[in-house]
Amino acid sequence: MRFSQFGLTTLKEVPAEAEIVSHKLMLRAGLIRRLASGLFTWMPLGLRVLRKVEAVVREEMDRAGALELLMPAVQPAELWQKTGRWEQYGPLLLRMRDRHERDFCFGPTHEEVITDIASKELRSYKQLPVNFYQIQTKFRDEIRPRFGVMRSREFIMKDAYSFDSDQDGLEVSYQKMHDAYSAIFERLGLEFRVVWADSGEIGGSKSQEFHVIADSGEDAIAYSDSDDYASNIETAATYPPVGDRPAATQDLEKIETPKAKTIDDICKLLGIDASQTVKTLVVEGTDGPVALVLRGDHELNAVKAQKLDGVASPLTMAGDEMIRDATGAAAGSLGPVGMTLPVYVDHAVGKMSDFSCGANETGFHYTGVNFERDLPAPETVDIRNVVEGDPAPGGKGSLSIARGIEVGHIFQLGTKYSESMGATVQDADGKDRVMVMGCYGIGITRIVGAAIEQNHDENGIIWPDPLAPFDVVLVPINMHRSDEVRDAAEALYTELTESGLEVLFDDRDARPGVKFADAELIGIPHRIVVSERGLQGGELEYRHRRDEESRNLKREEALNLLKESVIS
Ligand code: ATP
Ligand code: MG
Repeated sequence: MRFSQFGLTTLKEVPAEAEIVSHKLMLRAGLIRRLASGLFTWMPLGLRVLRKVEAVVREEMDRAGALELLMPAVQPAELWQKTGRWEQYGPLLLRMRDRHERDFCFGPTHEEVITDIASKELRSYKQLPVNFYQIQTKFRDEIRPRFGVMRSREFIMKDAYSFDSDQDGLEVSYQKMHDAYSAIFERLGLEFRVVWADSGEIGGSKSQEFHVIADSGEDAIAYSDSDDYASNIETAATYPPVGDRPAATQDLEKIETPKAKTIDDICKLLGIDASQTVKTLVVEGTDGPVALVLRGDHELNAVKAQKLDGVASPLTMAGDEMIRDATGAAAGSLGPVGMTLPVYVDHAVGKMSDFSCGANETGFHYTGVNFERDLPAPETVDIRNVVEGDPAPGGKGSLSIARGIEVGHIFQLGTKYSESMGATVQDADGKDRVMVMGCYGIGITRIVGAAIEQNHDENGIIWPDPLAPFDVVLVPINMHRSDEVRDAAEALYTELTESGLEVLFDDRDARPGVKFADAELIGIPHRIVVSERGLQGGELEYRHRRDEESRNLKREEALNLLKESVIS
């Protein structure tokens, strides 16, 4: 490709709308352009990268025996009503009406459509197992689209759906996808981790996410220092602290705290650490509000809490008025002593003694609170986020926390969709059997952003070879004034291209500094410079995007190096 004909515009300025490095670099390097919130055009340079990701994903899916198809992006409401998700999915679902006033949505995912197809096409257990996949555009009306293509509203997903006649079959299909995903992310040259995850509104039982490790990641991942356990913090379990609760040493005292509204205020007022306080949060319940009690320095885990009996899902914090009506006190003055609402107490609180908490009377707190004396010892539950240093499951080692970008997610769905949509096959005895499903997603567009988060420096992107839009950038110096340079560069361009390399030939009449800066910004792995001085010695200047310095190589040497490093 000749740069002069590629229509690429790079930007020197960092666009104000971009918060993280990958978004900034994607805009500056001209990979994408924004149309509206969460909507992007993939420009020719960006599309080349996207197609590389797709190609690797497609190859590994095909190798795993999955079958590619292509479903419509627009889906009729009736299918979503059958599974109950027309109501459940909420505002994330982009709904629309056709000219006959029929309801449709733009698919955020395709369980309903594929299960409909399976129920019609698959008749006998002999047709199983089968795994269908597609690479297609999804739309989710995200509440906060951000980070460019990482959390956009329209994006490309590879989604796959497996059908088996029983759970054992599903385990095999699931493991195949687990292995295919690992192969994909390894081939793409990304540092990733597989973590246990929540199934969210997709439903089902077992699920794992594939995360690209990056500080800008929106997810927190807890991993063990003693084995390969790793979990999204949404589902990482906490346990009751070991050992006995320390004996009480303080008397119960009620103190006036008119200005203390937060845990911070109370700690300052009493001169204590947040770990000696207890906070009480009120959430909406299925039968009236419910109180959740946590140690002052711990964070509530919404995914865990919304699964508790009587707690509304999705988790919704009660408003001030609801709290006052239900408890007679302001939100900042609540506590477990004498609480009239149903209460869930976190494991960590169960072993506390001599703690302070709100007195369920506006402007008052208790200090020196102790279980079994001031309130009954509670049954405890797991409702908090793990923190650094918490024990890992299995009783060995402790947890560390890293940040990750979710690029893939695999689920065991079971019969959730096949049951409600009547997707059955005849088994060997001629009886109808509900198919057991799995579903498997990869964020194709998100991978491009995630790869840049992991591979860049202050000058721009550093593409891992398999993702690079071009293998080589060819930079002639003063080509427009030197026939010798022009001829040598043209000959090299032809030779490299003919040997199967993808070459970006910077034939622009521009200063070398401009060309070098652009080459670094757009991150092409190999750079060859052709100059009059080099040619006199029969040499070319070579530099890998990761190298500190360039090297002079004989023409043949340079050609061999390129051919070997890229084609092998
Ligand atoms: P998230 O938790 O990031 O919102 P999700 O769990 O809702 O994602 P899945 O339903 O598991 O997403 O979708 C499969 C994959 O699609 C995700 O692993 C992710 O890589 C990608 N994806 C999901 N939402 C978006 C989005 N808004 N923009 C880009 N990619 C997305
Ligand atoms: Mg997910």
